[in-house]
Amino acid sequence: LETGGNKAFRMFAADMTDANQDQLLIEKGIRDAIERNEFSLHFQPIVDLVTGEVACAEVLLRSSNAYLQGISIGVVIQVAEKTGLIHELSSYVFKTTFSIINGWKNSGLHLPLISINLSAEQLKSEDVVIDLLDLVEAHQIDAAMIQFEMTETAMVTDIERTSDILRTLQNYGFHIALDDFGTGQSSLSHLLNINPDTIKIDRSFIHSLTTNRTNQLLVSTINELSRKIGAKVVAEGVETQEQLTMLMEIGCPYVQGYWLSRPLPAQVFEDWLLLFSA
Ligand code: C2E
Ligand code: CA
Ligand code: CA
Ligand code: CA
Repeated sequence: LETGGNKAFRMFAADMTDANQDQLLIEKGIRDAIERNEFSLHFQPIVDLVTGEVACAEVLLRSSNAYLQGISIGVVIQVAEKTGLIHELSSYVFKTTFSIINGWKNSGLHLPLISINLSAEQLKSEDVVIDLLDLVEAHQIDAAMIQFEMTETAMVTDIERTSDILRTLQNYGFHIALDDFGTGQSSLSHLLNINPDTIKIDRSFIHSLTTNRTNQLLVSTINELSRKIGAKVVAEGVETQEQLTMLMEIGCPYVQGYWLSRPLPAQVFEDWLLLFSA
């Protein structure tokens, strides 16, 4: 028994070392990428199913750093949160998004709502509000053009403070979206607490939508509930025509996913906008 235990422990310890090493390498990758300007932003369209227009675009971070390219950006973000590098990364995301939007605005493009992911770490201090107000002013951007997405798990640590910050952002005109809805705990209480402008149904529910009756019920219930509280609903991760058809039948108003478009480099997304503005 003892040998077995030791073996298990050795394997566990080896795993830990691997994980720590990975984290150190990713941390180094992030520092390098910041220094060498190896981050960029992609934009993924969110389509209005009634008008067919691009109603919104989600901003997604990407890196061309040789090491980081092999790692999913979600993991990169997690390491950035653990090491405090998230503040520098987010600052990059904010500034770059606003300066891109400013350029589009100046060239007369009709812009959809631009939706930026916020991490839990940023919601720990009210400073984020001041920073954002300074930045939108500097870039001559109307707060109402911007939405912030956050997950329910980002809110559990201090729901009071988080909802205060979110409410303040809303008072200044920013939109708030609840991301990955349905995957966290006590989804309903968060809904009532923060009064989001948008609810994004997690892609795990969309994935098996056409075969899973429970998910169909869930999606249509979330849809109705959102309607009642005046929030917009986005179905995430739409990958097939069958899913899209079913979402139309359910009456879900907005969709996002590879079936409509992958996340696009800013320049390519700009061409999309040009097409729609014409
Ligand atoms: P998320 O906020 O849930 O973002 C949506 C993710 O789903 C993106 O993954 C997107 O590329 C992917 N996706 C879109 N359509 C489909 C589809 O049809 N099928 C599938 N399977 N996936 C689809 P991505 O870009 O890898 O980002 C992963 C996560 O990293 C994001 O999840 C978000 O939590 C985080 N993230 C990305 N960019 C940022 C950022 O700028 N700031 C922060 N704080 N987090 C970010
Ligand atoms: Ca998101
Ligand atoms: Ca999501
Ligand atoms: Ca997610």
